[in-house]
Amino acid sequence: MGELSPLFAPERIAVVGATDREGSVGRAIMENLLDAFVGEVVPVNPGREEVFGLPALDSVADSEADLAVVVVPPTVAVDVVREAGEAGITNVVVITAGFGETGTEGATREQELTEVAEAYDIDLVGPNSLGIMSTPVGMNASFGPENATSGRMSFMSQSGAFITAVLDWANDQGIGFKDIVSLGNKAVLDESDFVREWGDDEETDVVIGYLEGIDDGQAFIQTAREVTQETPIVLVKSGRTDAGAQAASSHTGTIAGSDQAYEAGLEQAGVIRAESVQELFDAARVLESQPLPETDGVAVITNAGGPGVMSTDSIGDSRLSMASFADETLEAFSETLPAEGNIYNPVDVVGDADNERFRDALDVALADENVGSAMVLACPTAVLDYGELAEDTVAMQAKHDKPVAACFMGGARVKPAAETLSEAGIPNYFDPARAVAGLDALSRFRDISEREYREPTTFDVDRERAREILSSVEGRTDTRLGVEAMGLLDAYGIPTPDGDIVDAPADALEVAERIDGDVVMKIVSPDILHKSDIGGVKVGVPNEEVYDAYEDLVSRARNYQPDATIIGVQVQEMVDLDSGVETIVGMNRDPQFGPLLLFGLGGIFVETLEDTTFRVAPVSEPEAEAMTREIDAAPLLRGARGRDPADVEGVVETIQRLSQLVTDFPAILELDINPLVATPDGVEAVDVRLTVDPDEL
Ligand code: ADP
Ligand code: MG
Repeated sequence: MGELSPLFAPERIAVVGATDREGSVGRAIMENLLDAFVGEVVPVNPGREEVFGLPALDSVADSEADLAVVVVPPTVAVDVVREAGEAGITNVVVITAGFGETGTEGATREQELTEVAEAYDIDLVGPNSLGIMSTPVGMNASFGPENATSGRMSFMSQSGAFITAVLDWANDQGIGFKDIVSLGNKAVLDESDFVREWGDDEETDVVIGYLEGIDDGQAFIQTAREVTQETPIVLVKSGRTDAGAQAASSHTGTIAGSDQAYEAGLEQAGVIRAESVQELFDAARVLESQPLPETDGVAVITNAGGPGVMSTDSIGDSRLSMASFADETLEAFSETLPAEGNIYNPVDVVGDADNERFRDALDVALADENVGSAMVLACPTAVLDYGELAEDTVAMQAKHDKPVAACFMGGARVKPAAETLSEAGIPNYFDPARAVAGLDALSRFRDISEREYREPTTFDVDRERAREILSSVEGRTDTRLGVEAMGLLDAYGIPTPDGDIVDAPADALEVAERIDGDVVMKIVSPDILHKSDIGGVKVGVPNEEVYDAYEDLVSRARNYQPDATIIGVQVQEMVDLDSGVETIVGMNRDPQFGPLLLFGLGGIFVETLEDTTFRVAPVSEPEAEAMTREIDAAPLLRGARGRDPADVEGVVETIQRLSQLVTDFPAILELDINPLVATPDGVEAVDVRLTVDPDEL
């Protein structure tokens, strides 16, 4: 049982603002509670003698309730919650709207509500909530028109209206719930609290949710990670289309918007993200009722060629694969199946297959250890009885304890069979793709539950030196830094090429002579963000051209922007681009999740190619390593087309060191290392750009 279990299993509920006035929220809640709640319901309303025949109390303080549901007007709601707190009631659901969602006055009121709840240690749902439900005690403390039937999913939603719609549909589909929460404005309890609660709740097998936002992304990741070692979480997060931050001055800032943060954060949290309500429930239903597959090989048993091919395609698009059968399996098939059938996957039992042939084939396939799950794909024929096939499918699933997906195609004639399947936790779909998606979710959750989360590595770094460099922006209006801040990377052990910034041509020559061979020269100015755009980078400059190059770079900058502040010119050692890959390692700070790391194919075409991947920092070594595998250009790093593989370990370490830097310094708002050149001999950060918030230092 979780810490919030008293909220979901009260014995006595006070409804503050209870009434029997037609069409009111106070009435709807009373009706819903009186319908099935196993405990007592106490109406509180100083203006009434009785409500629904029950004596009404003047104050919640006298109710001796262990849960108060508040439906009074917003102006008195905070006082009611305070009274409840004083009376020792620590579970409160505030249905009342008119708080943070309505402007400044409401926001102040919500702040007060939070303070009162904290002062009295109240577990508070809402405000602006539809209410909560818990089927084991028959509690419907909501004003929705529909009650939930019992089941083993628990459901939270940031939209109350969505709950009513889902319930109407779920009741029709035979989908039941353990608890339901309408989160409302989340003034106190939020998604992390309920994820934790349901993770600890033995009666909840799957947590599902509809979220518009996550308030504290880091806390959510921590909690959900632990919970998903046991209990699957499937979420729809709405608001997908979100362009990157508008005012960003880095590549990372331009590419990394809030949806990238959610995508990365939910992935790291072990959450299965559904794209639609259909996907949400398709995944949740199989996760609730079916075992997890031990391997990803799927056996497809079908009496129809065409749909068999469709399912093969869907399986190919998923993380699953078509199982290749063991020799015994193939032998068994060749003995029992007609010659025109197919003993290989998808197994074609042929259009004239009767129930026995179908069942035996499924039995043989499921017995094969290369088969992690199976799909029964049937089209109606004169010799096949769908009802019997459904019973056989259920029996074989139970016998082998492996997940089975059903695709009995058809309309009216499928209905009774689909019911038999559904009762056994095997949803039936017309579309093979949906059946495959269910098996895919099971496989994904198996991997999530087996994940081992490692602590991020802590490297030895020079934090003081980093702080000094960042402090250089103090008192400035423009708080962006460029290559003049290369020392920051050095302080955190990220390799940078030899070089220096100078403000006279003679000094440039001196640096160039110190560095062996040709050099790279770059204009250094806070007003020039992308140096090569204005011809501000000269690659392969021999010593004899350094003088002219210096003058040329400065005059180009002047032409571009006459009043630009020019710090000088950077003279830098050449990095071997021919044998290397230009990558980008960056960070953009997300309001919900904090530092969002980016890794991708770098250079001057980053935004054009957008071959990138994201993680919320801090990251552990395996997470950093995974980033280097996720981009499309990953094979380039590992030595495509006869090239020597680049120093991937160096890239992985750089990602981790940057992760440590941006975790140590919340003052860094965004940062690009672009490019980080990865050659077979190592990595070099040849360019850096960042924005600092000096107030955070
Ligand atoms: P910016 O991004 O402001 O245009 P960079 O310093 O990233 O400036 O330089 C632009 C490009 O020049 C890099 O993507 C890389 O291709 C090349 N370049 C920069 N520095 C070096 C170097 N030290 N060695 C080799 N090539 C370099
Ligand atoms: Mg660059």
